[in-house]
Amino acid sequence: MLQDKFGRRFHYLRLSVTDVCNFKCTYCLPDGYKGSDRSFLTMPEIDTITKAFAGLGTSKIRITGGEPSLRKDLPEIIEKCASVEGIKHVAMTTNAYKLERDVFDYQKAGLNSLNISIDSFNPHIFNSITGHNKLDSILKGIESALELGIKVKVNAVLMKQYNGNEMSRFLKWIKDKPVTLRFIELMQTGDNATFFGQNHVSGEPIKKQLIDAGWVQTIRGKAAGPAQEFQHPEYAGKIGLIMPYSEDFCASCNRLRISSTGKLHLCLFADQGIDIRPYMVNSNPEELQQALIANLSNKTATHYLHDGYTGATKHLAMLGG
Ligand code: SAM
Ligand code: SF4
Repeated sequence: MLQDKFGRRFHYLRLSVTDVCNFKCTYCLPDGYKGSDRSFLTMPEIDTITKAFAGLGTSKIRITGGEPSLRKDLPEIIEKCASVEGIKHVAMTTNAYKLERDVFDYQKAGLNSLNISIDSFNPHIFNSITGHNKLDSILKGIESALELGIKVKVNAVLMKQYNGNEMSRFLKWIKDKPVTLRFIELMQTGDNATFFGQNHVSGEPIKKQLIDAGWVQTIRGKAAGPAQEFQHPEYAGKIGLIMPYSEDFCASCNRLRISSTGKLHLCLFADQGIDIRPYMVNSNPEELQQALIANLSNKTATHYLHDGYTGATKHLAMLGG
């Protein structure tokens, strides 16, 4: 099992398969994707990574991006991750642009769960956040995913100027729908300082509002990660709160990240990614495992976001959140 010097265990890998994205989310890529074509991880490299991590106790892989559904070989990537011994759960974070059309292929390939970004249930506001008029199609894709038995979480980034007064609309949506709606505090990145200053809101008042309205915080296992979860007897759905600025957020860190160009990121806001591609050239998972174990000793106890220190992370499309 991968474990760091603070006793944290890492059974969860976030694997970015591209940094290209077709959306222009105001907090992430407001001017659209500006990168040049890069050589993203290949199928043999993804195979080596998956086997190396599974051999070290990783049981869950989240495929992310940029927008992972822009990769034409996405079903093969899902299938590869799902087929490796020890991997029990394959998840994906997506803007769901192609979900309505492709969800059947994802399910056939072995996808267990989806995190879908919907920052507003108002189609006009959704359009002004993302640059795309796709809310209706995304909601249809979610219905199909649920019918196919794929677990669904919806990620909504809290933003004062965009969705600050949408709570009742969000709650109405999960009344009869068995999805987890996760409110994520906006994080500052290298590129979004001004937007962050104008839009960051703490999740604490929301937590209080939920508890006052009868939502009960669930006790989660030590390995469950940093999200706080709430349920309510009158709602089919659950609520999650991700508050990266709260005390002790990093104490329950259970994940490592690999960028689409093969860099190991020990923290979302690390100073730099560590190039581990050279350890994949021989397609030997053991070589890569040694590099992973050696580098893990440098993982820090916490990020320094509170001080406005965002490390090498210009925007989360670089890494996948
Ligand atoms: N394109 C996919 C999507 O949007 O779901 C996957 C990549 S995206 C970077 C992963 C998640 O990070 C999304 O839920 C997105 O809303 C969230 N995110 C991006 N930038 C963020 C920021 N500055 N603060 C908080 N969450 C952010
Ligand atoms: Fe693209 Fe996801 Fe970033 Fe939005 S949050 S711009 S969908 S990578």
